[in-house]
Amino acid sequence: MNFIKSAEQRANRPEGSVKLLAVSKTWPASRLRELAEAGQSRFGENYLQEALEKIAALDDLILEWHFIGPVQSNKTREIAAHFDWVESVDRLKIAQRLSSQRPAQKPALNICLQVNIDNESSKAGVTPDNLMELAAAVSQLDNLCLRGLMVIPAIAETEEQQLDAFGRAQQLFYQLKSAHPEVDTLSMGMSADMQAAIIQGSTMVRIGTALFGDRHTPNK
Ligand SMILES: *Cc1c(COP(=O)(O)O)cnc(C)c1O
Repeated sequence: MNFIKSAEQRANRPEGSVKLLAVSKTWPASRLRELAEAGQSRFGENYLQEALEKIAALDDLILEWHFIGPVQSNKTREIAAHFDWVESVDRLKIAQRLSSQRPAQKPALNICLQVNIDNESSKAGVTPDNLMELAAAVSQLDNLCLRGLMVIPAIAETEEQQLDAFGRAQQLFYQLKSAHPEVDTLSMGMSADMQAAIIQGSTMVRIGTALFGDRHTPNK
């Protein structure tokens, strides 16, 4: 996508160093199919039931599905069966369930640990202080592959604040990578802050609105 290319250029990042996750919540399978035909293969969904319908409707295509919403214990079996990545793991119990419920014929489930980078009480995510301990435990689980971090910073007033939060996330990412060299994914940046995220080393931006338009509310 062109907007990623120009964001990479503005940040002096090599072309192709930032992947695009198309965040398709609320959009019907037909819109995803159009995007897939234009070359997009990576899709992110927040709500399990909605996602399962789209995964089934698009199963003639080779797509990579990322779960990016809160993971409840009673949803882990379906998530482990149908997704390729889960970016919103923030506690060991959920990781253990995903690992034990991953179907044997599938490759390891790719995992990003969600970090609550601004220590917001209202927000999901492991705190920066507890990250390394969680990562050590998750990396031991048989059917998971620890790939990196996912970050959603507090809403920022200025680009400076965005850069600050993403800069702290990048430091954590380096720390994680030095303990777990297989780690390669820093998932950060959404429609409103993707430039700052790319400047601070994001390897994957999660874009909804800037790609699809304002969130779609289907007529029921
Ligand atoms: C909805 C969502 C996005 C995309 O947000 P936009 O502002 O529409 O680009 C990215 N990440 C997560 C976790 C989301 O829930």
